[in-house]
Amino acid sequence: MDQKRNFQVQILLPVVLCLGSEHFISINGCFVMVRNIIFFLSITVFSGMGCTSTHTSKQDKTMSFPTSKSEQDWQNQLSPEQYRILREKGTERAFTGEYWNHHDLGVYSCAGCGQELFESDSKFDSGCGWPSYFKPIRELVISEARDTSHGMIRTEVMCSQCGGHLGHVFNDGPPPTGLRYCINSGALKFKPNTP
Ligand code: FE
Repeated sequence: MDQKRNFQVQILLPVVLCLGSEHFISINGCFVMVRNIIFFLSITVFSGMGCTSTHTSKQDKTMSFPTSKSEQDWQNQLSPEQYRILREKGTERAFTGEYWNHHDLGVYSCAGCGQELFESDSKFDSGCGWPSYFKPIRELVISEARDTSHGMIRTEVMCSQCGGHLGHVFNDGPPPTGLRYCINSGALKFKPNTP
């Protein structure tokens, strides 16, 4: 009995402890690896969600706006370029839009719903290739949302009436606001001042 007990204590216990510790190290090593995999998977998944939400071709369904139409109605109403910008959050190429070099006096309205958005006297030449304004015609006409697409953190601006994507606002504008509303021409419709 004593011999058996000694065998258990002197041989089995060290072996078990040894195997156990190796196993523990192995498990621990595995755990670290699994933890890292889960970490990277989480990053990938959450990044993907971020990309998905900002690259999605549809408007953000969590925001609601007074003017609401089906995508089919928007497609019927808008030109393909207007639809791509306003409803799919697209961006026209720099220096290609109708208004980036436009200097007439008047008011720029939303091409989707007609709400007045910007006045020509707040337009300035930013050199970025898109029409730029240092303020909207009234604060309430603009809705903002955080945009994390393309590896950047930006503030998206939308028409507060229809939710149409307009562009982004940056903090590198001129006085008096220091803001630069960088807007797609395709999201706008210009109406000249009447003499
Ligand atoms: Fe609108």
